[in-house]
Order: sequence, then C-alpha cells, then structure tokens
Amino acid sequence: MFDTLGDKLGNVFDNLTGRGALSEKDVNAAMREIRVALLEADVALPVVKTFVEKIRREAVGEKVIKSIKPGQMVVKIVNDALIDMLGGTLSDEDADKEEAAKATHLNLSGRPPVAILMAGLQGSGKTTTSGKIALYLKKAFKKKILLASLDTNRPAAMEQLGMLAKQADVGFLPIIKGQSALEIAKRAMSEGAKGGYDVVFLDTAGRTTINDELMDEVEAIAKETQPIETLLVADSLTGQDAVETAKRFHERLPLTGLVLTRIDGDGRGGAALSMRAVTGLPIKFLGTGEKLDGLEAFDAERLAGRILGQGDIVSLVERASEVIDQKEAERAAEKMRKGQFDLDDLAKQLGQMQKMGGMGGLMKLMPGMGKMKKQIDAAGGIDDHLLKQQQAIIFSMTPEERRNPALMKASRKKRIAAGSGMSVQEVNKVIKMHRQMSDMMKKMGKGGMAGLMQQMGG
Ligand code: GDP
Repeated sequence: MFDTLGDKLGNVFDNLTGRGALSEKDVNAAMREIRVALLEADVALPVVKTFVEKIRREAVGEKVIKSIKPGQMVVKIVNDALIDMLGGTLSDEDADKEEAAKATHLNLSGRPPVAILMAGLQGSGKTTTSGKIALYLKKAFKKKILLASLDTNRPAAMEQLGMLAKQADVGFLPIIKGQSALEIAKRAMSEGAKGGYDVVFLDTAGRTTINDELMDEVEAIAKETQPIETLLVADSLTGQDAVETAKRFHERLPLTGLVLTRIDGDGRGGAALSMRAVTGLPIKFLGTGEKLDGLEAFDAERLAGRILGQGDIVSLVERASEVIDQKEAERAAEKMRKGQFDLDDLAKQLGQMQKMGGMGGLMKLMPGMGKMKKQIDAAGGIDDHLLKQQQAIIFSMTPEERRNPALMKASRKKRIAAGSGMSVQEVNKVIKMHRQMSDMMKKMGKGGMAGLMQQMGG
C-alpha cells in the first residue's frame, strides 16, 4: 500500500544519499520533490504546505550539517514529521504526544455496556468494520460484544451484520421489523445491559451522500445512547472526498476517531494524511481487506514507515550511528579512494553488516532498498550465515595475505579453506568478491557502507 508515495520519496532520498553535506539548495530540491509527491498522493494542499514547511525548517541547519549521513537525516526528519502528522497535532507542535497515543486505542471505560457508534457513507465499509472491531475486541480484550444494525432502509444490511456476528461469534440484536433506528438503538442498549454485554455496536444507516435527514437521525441516536466512541468509517480510495466527508460528519457529530478502509487497495495514502490533519481526529483502525481479520490497530510510526516505503529508517539511522565508528569509516573510505581497500577492510565491513542485522535486516532498513530485497528474496534470499563464513575465511588468512591478496596461490588457499572449515571454492569467492568490490570502489571514488550499499542497489 502507499507504493506511489513511498517510491517518490525513495527517489528523493536516493539522490541525497552519499552526498558530502546537505546544502540549503539540496534541502529545497528535496522539499520540491516531497511536495509534488504528496500532492500526487492526493494530500490536500494546505496540509502539504504545512508539512513541507515544517520539514524545511528542521532540515536546513545544524541538525543536518552535524549528522553522519545528510540524506538519512532528512529521511528521519520526514519520517518524524509524518508520525507527528499522523498521530500528533499539526497546528500545535507541542501537542501532548501521550494524549495522541492514548487516543489511538478505543476508550471502553465506563459502566458496561458502553456504546460504539459507527457512522459513515453507504459502502464505506461500516458494517464490515463493525464486525472486524467486534472480533478484535473479543479476541484481544475478551469483551462480550453485541452488534446492532440500525439500517432500517436496507434489510440486506441488517442481515449482513447478522452474518458477520455469526462469523465472529459475537452477539447480534434480533431484527424487529417496523422499529425506527432510534428505537432499535434504545433496545440495543437495554438488551446489552440485560445480556451482560461489555460493548454494543450501533451500526447506523449509511446514505450515498451526506444529507440532513441522515445527520439528524445519527445525532439523535448519539444523544440517546451517549456513545463512548463515535467512529467515522471512510473509504480511503475516495481520496479528497473522504476528507470532505470527514469534515462534514465532524461538524455535526461528536466524532472520536476515524477508521480508514480499503487501505489494501490504496496506492496513494493521501487520504490518511489529510483526514487526520484536517479533522484533528485520531485514526483508530485501518481496514486492510474484505475478511474479518482485515483490520489493523492504527500505529502512526508504522504507517509513516510504510508511506516512506522503506521500513524503519529511523532505527537505521540510530543503529548506524551506534555501530559505525565514524573515524574508522572515514579511514576506510580514504583507503578505498586510493584503491587500498584490503581484505582486513572487507572483514570489518562484513562485521558491521552483521551487527546491523545482516544483509536482510540492513536492506529492509535502507531507503530505496525495499525493491531489491524483494528481488533477492525471490531468488532465494541471502543467508546471513554467509557473512560469518566469509569473515571466518578472511580471519584464516595471514596479515600479509589480507593486505596483498595476489599472494594467494593454490597451496595457501587450501590452508585457508582448512583453517576456516570452508572449501577452496568458497575461499575463491571471497577473494573474487574483494576484487570486485575494490574495483568498484575505485570507480566510485568514494566508499563506506552507503557507497557500497548504493552500488549494490543500483
Ligand atoms: P457499508 O455500506 O458502509 O456498511 O459497507 P460494507 O461493510 O457493506 O462494505 C462494502 C464493501 O466493501 C464490502 O464488499 C466489503 O467486503 C468491502 N470492504 C470493507 N472494508 C474493506 C477493506 O478494508 N478492504 C477491502 N478490500 N474491502 C473492504
């Protein structure tokens, strides 16, 4: 999901990676790209403006200049800003983060049964989502759930909820023909109390467009039942329309949160960003499929990671700065530039890769490497043991051999193979890998992990 935005931002960051320092010009260029990418992802213009301005302020200046990798630092800043935008409050940068975190979970406190009112346009996924959240609360929190359909216009919608209740093995309020939505809501609450239910879901009627009649009805139900949560379900595929819908509903109903459905089919992701920013409401859940298990509790960090499409970049930056000794990295880079990258250096690089979680872990984390990881996985994957084995081979060489691989003839290779418990073929592979890498590095004229990884990705 969100492939398009992720790819776009990925390209921006690829261009930044490997540069010496990040100038204001670089930042501006990156921001232009991010702006276009967000607009193309269908994020509302005012939201884009706020977002880009915020990043620009943070990116230009000390934070970036001081950092180890300017490109990665920008990635982290964008990532943090996305998290803020998805989970924090944009208008107030110092908004209480804890408050936002708490709000991402459903509030179920109060005397049971508590009511959860589900609102939204017809076809948004309201009924399905009611079933999904019911199952989630039952499974994860052992809650006793009663589902009630208030859609008096569509008997089929009522039956659909009944089927979902059966599938999820939760309670369902029997249908009594001729009752109004408000009557059903009252009956649901009293049956909920009698039956010892913890939570009653009130699945309201949807309309194809927002109208006063619909709003009056939902408003009356909300007044009567005093729901602890009033969730607006919106189809993320409808983009800016979903944002408009959220705004209109929010004007009339005391909404407590959003659920975005069809995230599995959303190539743009702008709806999530915009709806959050425009309404200020927390996104509580994401719908990720038609089935009852197609639900994810919303997590701003996770979604930001997905929007960037690069896995957890922040932790890469953090881990990289922990693991990579800056002076050592600079020394290695200098040697590479001069074409003096020897097997000792290769062993160190392999060690660093291991510390960072091996090739697999590393590539998941590297911006722009997601695609390559998929290709490698498709081809059978990289065995992280390999790194250890390659290192063992190098450690079986004498210091002289490591400095000057040309020394290694057949008898030496045999000795090294025996010493490391590998075959001569494998020794040859390591020597070949080193030769290819040093050739490549001479050509690149710069080195280090980023250069290496970049080359492997390109
Ligand atoms: P309602 O009219 O708002 O109650 O919408 P429904 O719950 O009946 O959903 C309409 C259609 O969307 C159904 O076919 C659902 O299976 C489908 N649907 C709901 N949520 C999702 C989702 O997260 N992903 C996908 N792919 N389909 C969904």
